Amino acid sequence: MLSWSWRCTVGGVPSWLETSSATVQQLEGLDAHLPVISRGKTLGEVSTWGIGGPAKLFCEVHCELQLASVLRYCRKRSIPFLVVGRGSNCLFDDRGFDGCVILNRLCSFERLAPGVYHAGSGYPFNALGIQSTNDGFSGLEFASGIPGTVGGAVFMNASADGQETANVLKSVEVVTVNGQKYELPRDKLTYGYRSSPFQTIQGLAAICSATFVLTGCATAKENLRKYLKRRKETQPIGERSAGCVFRNPGFGCQSAGFLIDKAGLKGLSIGGAKVSELHANFIINDGNSRASDVIKLLSIVKERVKSKYGITLEEEIIYVPFKQ
Ligand SMILES: Cc1cc2nc3c(=O)[nH]c(=O)nc-3n(C[C@H](O)[C@H](O)[C@H](O)COP(=O)(O)OP(=O)(O)OC[C@H]3O[C@@H](n4cnc5c(N)ncnc54)[C@H](O)[C@@H]3O)c2cc1C
Repeated sequence: MLSWSWRCTVGGVPSWLETSSATVQQLEGLDAHLPVISRGKTLGEVSTWGIGGPAKLFCEVHCELQLASVLRYCRKRSIPFLVVGRGSNCLFDDRGFDGCVILNRLCSFERLAPGVYHAGSGYPFNALGIQSTNDGFSGLEFASGIPGTVGGAVFMNASADGQETANVLKSVEVVTVNGQKYELPRDKLTYGYRSSPFQTIQGLAAICSATFVLTGCATAKENLRKYLKRRKETQPIGERSAGCVFRNPGFGCQSAGFLIDKAGLKGLSIGGAKVSELHANFIINDGNSRASDVIKLLSIVKERVKSKYGITLEEEIIYVPFKQ
């Protein structure tokens, strides 16, 4: 299971980033922009699963100046922090988070040229998918069914229906823990299935925005309709979930959902967490699930699939522990 690490790192920025030709700007003297920081926000309220205890500190950022200020606030006080979008791929611990959760609402949106879009990392990814498709461009039709932000999609390399975020990215703007901004061109970024360099790079604080280049396509709207219809028929859309919990095992293997289903695990529940009857790779919060219920259920599912098929499933969701 991926767990969060580099966002807490104070200091050390990787050399390739420091030497990037696209160096930008030192953000200084911005404390006047510090957003309201509250204590004890229940993280279940900012996750689609509805699971998670209180954050020691919590704030919402609506512009890059606010983001830079809160990053500096955390850095000066050595407070661990975590940037989240819609929390649609996060499992927060029942005890919450012993640091500052920064809810990203950098929601700018711009059409730079026909088929070229620049969006703040807090912009809803599904809105970007719908807008670009309605403009007649293809590449992000799949995004219309994904409840996350642009930043979350760039971080996770969100994908579906044969399309993926990395394929239409032109560049990504990031800020480091030291408050420096960089524009990273796509060709410097190594992407894989549900993986991005942002999951492992030390010294990065947040993805700020991204630029996408799409291709004109007469059937884009039809694609989008088809993809949404498939989702409605095959996924528990109205339930509280984080989408697919496991990565698909890879080339030559059946999907994780197929393996879980054939292992007879649909409907299996622990506490309030249940393997969806509709899509076996979804774990739904049946009302009062705790993170510990989900974790137990994940481990039982892994064990059963391993013993039946000899395949070790790997979590796609990000578990955010109480402490680093
Ligand atoms: C019903 C449903 C359907 C889904 N379908 C799909 C699907 O088809 N395909 C798919 O790939 N996913 C799917 N997902 C999963 C999820 O929506 C995606 O992974 C999405 O991209 C996560 O975006 P988010 O903003 O919610 O990220 P979050 O859950 O908030 O964060 C996920 C990770 O990204 C990091 N992160 C987020 N924003 C930033 C930022 N600005 N800077 C740095 N780090 C950041 C967080 O720290 C965290 O580690 C689905 C989820 C649900 C609930």
